[in-house]
Amino acid sequence: MSNSTVHASILTVEQARDRIVEVIRHVGLERVALSDAHGRVLAEPIVAAYDIPARDNTAMDGYAVRAGDVEGATREKPVTLEVVETLPAGYVASRRVEPGTAIRIMTGAPMPDGADSVVIVEVTESEGDTVRVFRPSKPGASIRRRGEDVRAGDTVLLPGADLRAGEIGQLASLGRPFVTVARRPTVAVLSTGDELLEVGAAPEEGKLVNSNAFSLASLAREAGALATVLPIARATPEDISAALVAASEAAVVVTSGGVSVGDFDFVKAALDALGAETNFWRVAMKPGKPVVFAELRGKPFFGLPGNPVSCMVGFHLFVWPALRKMMGVVPDRWMRPEVLAELAGDVRSSGDRRNYQRAVISWRDGRLVAETKRAQGSGVLSSMVAANGLVIVPEGAKHIAAGETVRVQLIGEIV
Ligand code: AMP
Ligand code: MG
Repeated sequence: MSNSTVHASILTVEQARDRIVEVIRHVGLERVALSDAHGRVLAEPIVAAYDIPARDNTAMDGYAVRAGDVEGATREKPVTLEVVETLPAGYVASRRVEPGTAIRIMTGAPMPDGADSVVIVEVTESEGDTVRVFRPSKPGASIRRRGEDVRAGDTVLLPGADLRAGEIGQLASLGRPFVTVARRPTVAVLSTGDELLEVGAAPEEGKLVNSNAFSLASLAREAGALATVLPIARATPEDISAALVAASEAAVVVTSGGVSVGDFDFVKAALDALGAETNFWRVAMKPGKPVVFAELRGKPFFGLPGNPVSCMVGFHLFVWPALRKMMGVVPDRWMRPEVLAELAGDVRSSGDRRNYQRAVISWRDGRLVAETKRAQGSGVLSSMVAANGLVIVPEGAKHIAAGETVRVQLIGEIV
């Protein structure tokens, strides 16, 4: 390959992401109980079958009255009304509010016929079967109107909505005990490398624990997918090929390790041997330049580098949006948001590639501040602990001073 071809085959992060989402297809749908729907992605439009509230009702505890009856009421000259009924929430009045009368009414109870206003209990005094009203009350006061929340026929939620507490509550209020959601894509996570030990195994000289399987499976679950961790594949073409065949049972395959240009980096060769179609294998970023995206036996394949930070960053930038698209999420929300934040300290970078630096993003005096982790090596997994953002240091930038505003790709909640 000539130098210029090699160069041309390095994609920007955006180009790589575009290529990925272009080939990603939606997973199927399933119907789940509302109680199991939290965290899922809605896959049907939700149209309200009825008005909420179903009828006019009182927003306050007080007395349903005719506004005309209490016009001009004051503390000195109260209006006295006859209380003809007491109405708790959940019941319909049996009486009408006729001139000179009132119905004692509790928050949420439907408005009785004849009444057009609710006098709050705080400006009244009850005495036997009567009530003294000390203040006028305008027509419509303290009344929640039928349909003011949701109207029958309104499309309340669209496919692609993330079902969080608000959406789940809304679905319940609309009388939906079941809801159609996107299936959770299955993600097979495969670690490759002879240096790897299973977590909990006795330490051995020259070996380290396979932590990537755990961090990557956790990221897949955070994205809403179902993760399966496969046994470690040894660094031989045969082992890796066999493991890839097994992994391709899943909807998405994610591997770590073995994608650089070392003597034992057999993942690309194994892909070729299995007839996989490689879409790209390098992205102009740091950490994590070698990232393979391929189609393996009809499934999207992500070959992430072995370094514990590189593979997690690669997952956030490439696998995350793929999983979100698979579940039918709208394009705006394939990635977590990007925000602007003020650097808490100086940031340095080699400047040769766009650099994603792990950081803690927090609010200080109403401004977002990014505190980058001190050790930014791609093997320093502790830099991912509590990190909720990746500070984007543009290509060419070698130094950005404290106080400057930078773009940050969020990878977690701001707390
Ligand atoms: P590689 O991308 O295969 O060259 O791996 C680079 C480095 O990442 C290795 O030397 C290991 O130190 C580390 N590494 C590879 N795989 C894992 C893994 N599954 N868990 C933790 N560290 C890993
Ligand atoms: Mg390796």
